[in-house]
Amino acid sequence: MGKFTKKIIRFDIETLINELNKALADEYLAAYQYWVGAKVIEGPFSDLVKKELEEHSKDEYNHAEMIANRIIQLDGVPILNPHDWFRLTKCGFLEPKNFKSIPILKQNIQGERCAIGVYDTLLKEIHGKDNITYHLIGKILEDEVEHECDLEQILKNISMKK
Ligand code: FE
Ligand code: FE
Ligand code: MG
Repeated sequence: MGKFTKKIIRFDIETLINELNKALADEYLAAYQYWVGAKVIEGPFSDLVKKELEEHSKDEYNHAEMIANRIIQLDGVPILNPHDWFRLTKCGFLEPKNFKSIPILKQNIQGERCAIGVYDTLLKEIHGKDNITYHLIGKILEDEVEHECDLEQILKNISMKK
């Protein structure tokens, strides 16, 4: 990290890196939850939902990428062992048990709502203290808000057709 870069962070850097690693754990688990959901989904509307799940999985993977890059920039080390995903996650992992469209959508909506809450809280904590991370998390939050909205819309449309 550049010397002046360090000066413009008015937040404990170790705490910041730790929070970013928790977010990294959540993003990896979210990416996998969408990915595996897209693999096993079956029944009515599964083609349509599958496409959306695949897209969201890529978005979550991209969030993990953005967060890991910021951790590196802060001279931190991104999670090295997947065991730590479960130790650090705030939103956990919702294993798909019923492979139909509606239960899979509902599980992922639950995950998005958790992510929105976590990022909203993080933004409040770092507001005015680290503008770069604030901007980065703000961009991710924008995506999560869109994800929740997309999934709710699909769930609504499916429920109307039934
Ligand atoms: Fe995400
Ligand atoms: Fe999301
Ligand atoms: Mg979408």
